Amino acid sequence: MQPFAWRQGTLHAEDVSVAAIAAEVGTPFYCYSTAKLEAQYLDFAGSLTGLDTIVCYSVKANSNQAVLATLARLGAGADVVSAGEMMRALQAGIPAGRIVFSGVGKTAAELDAALAAGIYQFNVESIPELHALSARAVAGGHTAPVALRVNPDVDAGTHDKISTGREHDKFGIAWADVPGTYAAAAALPGLDVAGVDIHIGSQLTSLDPLATAFGRVADLVRSLRDAGHRIDRIDLGGGLGVDYGNLKASPPRAADYGALARRIVGNLGCTLLFEPGRRIVAEAGILVAAVTYVKESAGRQFVILDAAMNDLMRPALYDSHHEIVPVAQPDKGVALLPVDVVGPVCESTDSFAKDRPLPPLKAGDLVAFQTAGAYGAVMSGTYNTRPLVPEVLVSGHRFAIVRRRMEVADILALDSVPSWVGDASDERRGAAE
Ligand SMILES: *Cc1c(COP(=O)(O)O)cnc(C)c1O
Repeated sequence: MQPFAWRQGTLHAEDVSVAAIAAEVGTPFYCYSTAKLEAQYLDFAGSLTGLDTIVCYSVKANSNQAVLATLARLGAGADVVSAGEMMRALQAGIPAGRIVFSGVGKTAAELDAALAAGIYQFNVESIPELHALSARAVAGGHTAPVALRVNPDVDAGTHDKISTGREHDKFGIAWADVPGTYAAAAALPGLDVAGVDIHIGSQLTSLDPLATAFGRVADLVRSLRDAGHRIDRIDLGGGLGVDYGNLKASPPRAADYGALARRIVGNLGCTLLFEPGRRIVAEAGILVAAVTYVKESAGRQFVILDAAMNDLMRPALYDSHHEIVPVAQPDKGVALLPVDVVGPVCESTDSFAKDRPLPPLKAGDLVAFQTAGAYGAVMSGTYNTRPLVPEVLVSGHRFAIVRRRMEVADILALDSVPSWVGDASDERRGAAE
């Protein structure tokens, strides 16, 4: 399904005019399609029919409460990487029994919160974390269900900054240390060591590295069982990529991904967990911005938007490509001219696209960044004291603001000025010099 398309010459999100939303909420804003969110989730989950699975949507891809609640309604679990994300998942109606907690740096307070909530599984990434979890569990009278995140040393063939399963990446337990770490875990009180977990990277556009990694996991489960460990859960992580408009071949279909998992680990008698993020939400979102100025300089044309790298960080962070379309459908046959599309932030990296062929744009025109539903709003910040932009959810002909626009006053309210600042009689100032 195509959730964002021109109709009667103007971009629509499902049945709602994007320009009409802009008129009501202002720009920039993120806009999500309920129908696409649901279709993507059901496509993924449907590829696993008949298997004993929990699809733990990776909350970090898009953690808006309305997005989480939409997925919760379809039966999604959650993969969280902080206590904050766990609270978001719980508040959106995802039961604790369908939540897994990943990440290399869970603090004692976070472990306590997750133990108290009674989550399904801790994905533990190191021996120090095992000791910490054991201690917190014993102190609280809990038994913590544990999977060890192992590092299968597979290059996911994706961008360096989103590869996580190679030997030198910070994630998981190095392959050679895996047997010893399971033995150490089994000897600790307060832990129920029940699973194996991997996540080799994000935006994977080939199934080959996943096939290799899944195969290593299957071998590992067999050898751990031989060593006396009762392993009945496998968490295969996330990472399934999407087409940002610049892929040469189509990304793997969910059906083929599901078939791969079924073939390689489906017969081990384990509950299978999946942590898809991007695949569920990326194509369900756009970022809408307005053109502030069009500037000619040294033979280049710069289209300066009211959105910036703080609103959509992926191009600055990973050189990512996002298709940019004008909200007003261009006339047929109009000449496309290469322009640089930039934001107003005082950084050269605040550039969304270079030499991008676009139809003529002028101040006030609206544009939409496509495939912006994942790692978009969640990564935004307030650099340059730019308030976080609103998020809007569309369903059919309805839309609702699901995160209000932050005000500058909200940002300023977090700061405070100590009483001694500006007080010339204060001696600490002199003492510090
Ligand atoms: C980020 C992350 C995911 C989700 O990755 P996607 O590429 O968005 O599917 C899943 N699991 C873990 C542990 C992650 O860190």
